[in-house]
Amino acid sequence: MTNYGWIGLGNMGGPMTANLVKAGHRVRAFDLNPEACAAAAAEGVEIVENIAAAVLDAEVVFTMLPKGEHVRSVFDGPEGIWANAKTSTLLADSSTVDIETSRFCHEQSAARGFRFVDSPVSGGISGAAAGTLAFMLGGADDAVRDATGFIEPMSGKVIAAGAATAGIAAKICNNMMLFIDLMAASEGSQLAEHLGLDPQVFWEIASVSSARSWAQQTWYPVPGIVPTSAANHNFDATFRVDLARKDIGLALQAGIATGVKLPAAGLVREHLDALIDEGLADKDCSLIVKQVSPDGSV
Ligand code: NAD
Repeated sequence: MTNYGWIGLGNMGGPMTANLVKAGHRVRAFDLNPEACAAAAAEGVEIVENIAAAVLDAEVVFTMLPKGEHVRSVFDGPEGIWANAKTSTLLADSSTVDIETSRFCHEQSAARGFRFVDSPVSGGISGAAAGTLAFMLGGADDAVRDATGFIEPMSGKVIAAGAATAGIAAKICNNMMLFIDLMAASEGSQLAEHLGLDPQVFWEIASVSSARSWAQQTWYPVPGIVPTSAANHNFDATFRVDLARKDIGLALQAGIATGVKLPAAGLVREHLDALIDEGLADKDCSLIVKQVSPDGSV
């Protein structure tokens, strides 16, 4: 049995910690949201009152938080992880953050005697629930090796991406491709429907044809086709619009830094911004389909 410390019990952190508990581990976790805490407690996660209590005796601490600013605030300061964990504790951030935040965490962890791994994930909440997430790790070899053992109950595949921040760089590229694929699935599903095709039949054709993608398989934005699609539940979020906007923004930021042109990513950003302007930031990112529907209905 391993003692895990965990910060962030949202759409992803909730099911990830549930799998650790199912595998027989002890998880002490903190989240600001009482509803997220209650849901995790029902799965056997021990909810504690602050970060210090979550990390105190942990062999490993994972953070699963929305954005870079949340990660920095949870690590830093007198109430944060660095001030309250033992330096023997391995630190792993699985949030999707900007490369600068990840570098900051690596550098500050090393300066304080901690080992840190960037360990973002792919697979959505369905992968989190099934314990099949793909983890991509960046950091020193020994830290990556040890992190891999701790990750095992949550994961279908762990890939060492390279040195510090390599995991997050891979994640940013991956998610840019994901949201472009989601846009493609949205346009394809709407066009198929308005050409009179049966949505189920078209989805089956795409599934065995060259349009197949993870987004098309898992997030297909038409109700009643794919069980894991948010379209079945009025687009209640499995991956929020504002988090998708954050991720596409991270890719565009990296594009500017490297000189790589990313026109398709720019288009996805425009559509996500339009949803945010309509007050839909909390809905699921597959609601991007609304942007291409002839009358905005889905
Ligand atoms: P979420 O918003 O559902 O959950 C984040 C949780 O962090 C919330 O419960 C919130 O209360 C908590 N939190 C925020 N600030 C905190 C603080 N200071 N202290 C303690 N708790 C705090 O987000 P999510 O969908 O679980 O995503 C988490 C991260 O994983 C994001 O970076 C996201 O981009 C990434 N991600 C999400 C998915 C997905 O499908 N949802 C897939 C892969 C990666």
